Amino acid sequence: MSNAFDAPHFQSHENARAWLEAQRWPDGPICSHCGSINHAYKNKAKPGYYRCAEKECRKDFTVTTGTLMERSHIPLNKWLMAFYLMCASKKGVSAHQLHRSLGIDYKSAWFLCHRIREAMRDGKMDPLGGAGGGGIVEADETYFGNLPESKRRPSPQRKGRPYIKKGRAAGKRAIVALVERGGRVRSFHPAVADGASVAAIVRENIAREARLHTDESRLYTKVGHEFSAHETVTHSHGEYARGDVHTNSVEGYFSIFKRGMRGIYQHCGEKHLHRYLAEYDFRYNHRVALGYSDIDRTKIAVQGIVGKRLTYHQVGRA
Ligand SMILES: [Zn+2]
Repeated sequence: MSNAFDAPHFQSHENARAWLEAQRWPDGPICSHCGSINHAYKNKAKPGYYRCAEKECRKDFTVTTGTLMERSHIPLNKWLMAFYLMCASKKGVSAHQLHRSLGIDYKSAWFLCHRIREAMRDGKMDPLGGAGGGGIVEADETYFGNLPESKRRPSPQRKGRPYIKKGRAAGKRAIVALVERGGRVRSFHPAVADGASVAAIVRENIAREARLHTDESRLYTKVGHEFSAHETVTHSHGEYARGDVHTNSVEGYFSIFKRGMRGIYQHCGEKHLHRYLAEYDFRYNHRVALGYSDIDRTKIAVQGIVGKRLTYHQVGRA
């Protein structure tokens, strides 16, 4: 059994930089300022630095310029170890674990985790269920965690009556997830899961030719007419599958998310929930069943560092 951390790029900052250059620049260094490919001088005095040879540009860059790793003081091999750990463990890794495993202080580990989640965030907008003339997309909503007391207090108009919606306490955060049968997930954290917000999510992310599968929730009734079919299972009558109609995939996704969040990220602030969802979506979309190994998943996540920026300040208040 080989040890994943024996790989050379985990051993030193310099090795990690060479690995990252090979991943990002298979055809030679790409200037982060003007986009020129393989037309740059190596700075012999400063390893890792390049100067663009384009007459109009002439700027300096490294493999991390213009990425989430720019200006980080954490050695690149530790960055790559953190990427690997977050990509290879099904439920994710806590900042405390990274702090202990990598020997970096907790605050740095916490910020590192958030930047890796940001790298995992997928900006893809193509509709789900569109390939091959109409796949099945399951949609469902769930509620997670507890809202802080300050947000839970009923307004004076409600005269102290608590918010209860369809039997579920409103002190929880809504999550809506769409899962292609045998394919990808895309999940969302709307401020409230009401008819309008759910319809907007469904409409913007599912191909018209897809078959929509949901439970009997009325949130999907109206928007369901916009798809080639809207088929439902009636959970309240104990019906969980009828032929190929079911919502087992999306429920499976929610259960991985909830188990992971309970076990590892006990205190997830509401302002960070969208990033945790991006992390779980990423791992699900690159899971073993779809043919991805831990190393494939790590390489794809690392590609996501480009063109994104997240400052400590932004994470703190976002
Ligand atoms: Zn340039």
